Amino acid sequence: MTDGPSYGFDTLQIHAGARPDPATGARQTPIYQSTAFVFRDADHAAALFNLQEVGYIYSRLTNPTVAVLQERIATLEGGVGAVCCSSGHAAQIMALFPLMSPGKNVVASTRLYGGTVTQFSQTIKRFGWSATFVDFDDLDAVKAAINDDTRAVFCEAIANPGGYITDLDAISAISDAAEVPLIVDNTSATPYLCRPIEHGATLVVHSTTKYLTGNGTVTGGCVVDSGKFDWTANDKFPSLSAPEPAYHGLKFAETFGPLAFTFHGIAIGLRDLGMTMNPQAAHYTLMGIETLSLRMERHVENAQKVAAWLETDPRVDYVTYAGLPSSPYYDRVKKICPRGAGGLFTVAIKGGYEACVKLVDNLEIFSHVANLGDTRSLIIHSASTTHRQLSAEQQEAAGAGPNVVRISIGIEDADDLIADLDQALAKATA
Ligand SMILES: *Cc1c(COP(=O)(O)O)cnc(C)c1O
Repeated sequence: MTDGPSYGFDTLQIHAGARPDPATGARQTPIYQSTAFVFRDADHAAALFNLQEVGYIYSRLTNPTVAVLQERIATLEGGVGAVCCSSGHAAQIMALFPLMSPGKNVVASTRLYGGTVTQFSQTIKRFGWSATFVDFDDLDAVKAAINDDTRAVFCEAIANPGGYITDLDAISAISDAAEVPLIVDNTSATPYLCRPIEHGATLVVHSTTKYLTGNGTVTGGCVVDSGKFDWTANDKFPSLSAPEPAYHGLKFAETFGPLAFTFHGIAIGLRDLGMTMNPQAAHYTLMGIETLSLRMERHVENAQKVAAWLETDPRVDYVTYAGLPSSPYYDRVKKICPRGAGGLFTVAIKGGYEACVKLVDNLEIFSHVANLGDTRSLIIHSASTTHRQLSAEQQEAAGAGPNVVRISIGIEDADDLIADLDQALAKATA
């Protein structure tokens, strides 16, 4: 189909990027399980390698199944292009790679997925990059943290795990004024609940492992480009604005215009870093994405019910879910994610660390896993698992203190989830 702007989300999540297979008419997108693609002739091959013609060469760079997913996610996010990768963490590196160089920094929110805090505070140092973490509710602190060496601002729309919503409009006003791209991790919200590009994001990154696939089967990631950033406004982004020696001096921004970042991601990023999504993973994610809106609606409805029940329970200290009027972020939901505050929240249990561990061990329906965004309800005690590598201060800042469990609400019957929590809380706090 042609992706007319008039189509609604439910139509696009099924059709965007996909056409009946030209060779067989297959209605569902085939899994093109092929490493390489035959060139029509030597001239065709040369044109592809020169980036003069777009086509398929080798599946580290491009693959027809993965291409459908890229177009689907780009369309749902309102971007011009997307590059799929092997995981969400790969997508983060792929987003930063064209922007950063040794000595440059990213200004990042303190409220991030635990693995991202580790990636940014430890691993990227090996590339000579650094991250400055600040409270993104303190806009003056965000402004002050940006300096001449800042090449990106990074946050999550709905921050995992603490039920925090970022004021993306306020943050993008700051990054725009500083002429620095804003990267938003939209994993927890998904484009159904939040469209960061409409709030000024330059790039959107995803762990497609989570809600986009939706059933805990594969890992994957994606970088979506808004196509709106002017890479040539100054000399801060030479990978995109200056001649590229690996392509005979081609300038990505000049040659590809709004698609410069996407082409760079494929022609340099995937070619040389190799963090490629495989066609099987793209297939599973395409299957999942077809029902994204239906699942997100149920995730939100269930999360709302379960969080409200927990909040009134005497065994619970507090619940951080932005969908509850008690949340300081309740008013931001309408502005940033009007269809709901997502399916993730944290619960502080009276009885601290011990009670949390017992709760997790006594649940029947909830699975104790390091994952989120599954059809199944999941729970984890962040302080003893995903956020274990962080300092006590970092744990608190991320909303993952020792008395807190993170819950990812699935699409089961809300009453069953409440009954399960009730019986496990009884054992945990006995
Ligand atoms: C899971 C997750 C990631 C990392 O994604 P992987 O696919 O596990 O590499 C990044 N950000 C958020 C918000 C996540 O939930």
